[in-house]
Amino acid sequence: MKKISIVIPAYNEEEVIRTSYFKTKEVLEKCEQYDYEIIYINDGSKDKTLEILQKITQENEKVKVISFSRNFGHQEAVTAGLQFVTGEVVAIMDVDLQDPPELLPEMISLWEEGNEVIYGKRKLRKGESKFKLLTAKMFYTTLNALSDIEIPRDTGDFRVVDRKVVDVINQLPEHNKFLRGLFSWVGFKQKAFDYERQERQAGKTKYPFTKMWNLASNGIISFSTKPLKFVGGLGILTILMSIIILMYSLLSYLFQLNNLTPGWTSIMVTITLFSGVQLLSIWMMSEYIARIYDETRKRPQYIIDKKINIE
Ligand code: UDP
Ligand code: MG
Repeated sequence: MKKISIVIPAYNEEEVIRTSYFKTKEVLEKCEQYDYEIIYINDGSKDKTLEILQKITQENEKVKVISFSRNFGHQEAVTAGLQFVTGEVVAIMDVDLQDPPELLPEMISLWEEGNEVIYGKRKLRKGESKFKLLTAKMFYTTLNALSDIEIPRDTGDFRVVDRKVVDVINQLPEHNKFLRGLFSWVGFKQKAFDYERQERQAGKTKYPFTKMWNLASNGIISFSTKPLKFVGGLGILTILMSIIILMYSLLSYLFQLNNLTPGWTSIMVTITLFSGVQLLSIWMMSEYIARIYDETRKRPQYIIDKKINIE
């Protein structure tokens, strides 16, 4: 009997986790030809999430829990979950039911047809703020303009993936895994699956602007070195500009073309422009250096405090 593994990260989700579990279980039990396991990753929740999960594991030994020592983040939680899957096919979902479990059977049947990565593509996003939609759109446009591979738009981490692909992802030495990019980067037989993203069932989003910003910059830095090249281009451009300004002022001095009064304006403009350019360049490079630092330090990506129903 083939087994489906479901990986679900949860951070402060006491309001929704039970409902989410029952819905998911109901769907999985209807797929009688498959065995299943649900791996919840408790990403350092400060509410009753872990307690509720513990109760669920006592009721159902197919439910497994990995509990982090603190909040490490969504991508880290999913990465950890992927390390412990034992099924032939793996699904990654959010706990808040925005990715409807009812779609799993259809996605699994696409897997049976030979597709290896079935990624959920959001046709419609219900109940998300205009701000979120706009920033998400900007992010995917920038990412695709900058990165060397095509990362499908409007996809999150909702996916059904063949075990073979998960093994490849698990073996990547990279620390800061931007999963939705990596799942596209690894190749294999990919298939888009259109769905309507539902409203969050209960609780609030665990993705404030800072976390979104980190995810976005991590995505861009993981998949592109173009910002670094852009810095070079900017540098050359500004040097050219300063040569032109220099020549212009030299000529006007020599030929008395116009009375360039000791140019306060031009000096100010130049100083501000160039310090701006320099700061921008330094910032961009430091983003990469920070990443290099992070990778060389080889600190674990997450720390597991407790495992339930997992050897
Ligand atoms: N999540 C997590 N750690 C975090 C933030 C979020 O494990 O630091 C989980 C969260 O519990 C949920 C999923 O990641 O299952 C997606 O988060 P959320 O629904 O808050 O994001 P949104 O759908 O608003 O983008
Ligand atoms: Mg959500």
